[in-house]
Amino acid sequence: MKAQEQIYLNRALALAEEALEAGDEPFGSVLVSAEGEILAEDRNRIASGDATQHPEFTLARWAAQHMTPEARANATVYTTGEHCPMCAAAHGWAGLGRIVYISSSEQLGRWLEDLGVAPSPIKALPIGQIVPALEVEGPIASMDEKVHALHQRRHAV
Ligand SMILES: [Zn+2]
Repeated sequence: MKAQEQIYLNRALALAEEALEAGDEPFGSVLVSAEGEILAEDRNRIASGDATQHPEFTLARWAAQHMTPEARANATVYTTGEHCPMCAAAHGWAGLGRIVYISSSEQLGRWLEDLGVAPSPIKALPIGQIVPALEVEGPIASMDEKVHALHQRRHAV
């Protein structure tokens, strides 16, 4: 991972913290062009009552509406948590490029179990099982404990 990419992951973390403070789940994502420009960003917004309001899904839709197929294929999504199957599929359908995630779905499952959170109704599958040809990087060992800490805050008794 290049030094510049740390900036995008830090931005995704800041968005996750913003989500947490707004009563949403702590997830944040950033869409970056091949030239390194942040094109769009979002955070989890499920407190609205719509459980599909994941940032990765929002960014996939945004990309489909605003970017050429070539620009999408060369873009990267930086995100605090590995895409869930819904978002991985949306990313794949939108024809977006590489994904860099800080913590994996497998880690999240373990953390939530440790915190006594009821399991999600959606099976957690690695991105590679949903979009096999996609280039994916993560977890990022130097940063995953920061995501863990956000989930601990979210579910603190
Ligand atoms: Zn998702």
